[in-house]
Amino acid sequence: MTEAPCEICTIARGGGRAKVLYNDGKVVAFLSEKPAVPGHIIVAPSEHFTIFEQVSEQTLAHCTKVTNRISTSVFEALQAQGTNIIINNGVPAGQEFGHFTLSILPRKQNDGLNFLWPQKTMSEEELSTVELHLKEYSTTMHAHAEEHAPPKEQKKLKQIDKKDDLRVRHYMNRGA
Ligand SMILES: [Zn+2]
Repeated sequence: MTEAPCEICTIARGGGRAKVLYNDGKVVAFLSEKPAVPGHIIVAPSEHFTIFEQVSEQTLAHCTKVTNRISTSVFEALQAQGTNIIINNGVPAGQEFGHFTLSILPRKQNDGLNFLWPQKTMSEEELSTVELHLKEYSTTMHAHAEEHAPPKEQKKLKQIDKKDDLRVRHYMNRGA
């Protein structure tokens, strides 16, 4: 059984029919064919990463820089009054492609798109429980931050293994 080639990888290599706006060999940006609003732009690293957490920091920094520039030009080119910069990470979060992407949505007043979710009320106890759960992992977060504080010794972070990572597995098993 052969898997279908990745749509985003194909576009990054210059294939497909996508309306490519930008391609520097590391990052590609093109118009969404199923836009949430006119001018919906998809930005992706040329290298294949399934989810956000797999993208190297260097690549992510470059993606962010390109996204920033495109978002800036969208204001002038499309007379946008705002932009939403969105990462749908994982199938439950609405991820559309099997390749990490960012979306830039040019916004205008009363354009019919609504991201205002109903706000939940949480008790002090519920908030504290969530806080505690997250703080159990704060050592990992801080260890990561220290890795990038020169000139301390660099510790290698454990790489996410595609097969072992729950989020990736969830993505791979979608619809199965
Ligand atoms: Zn890909």
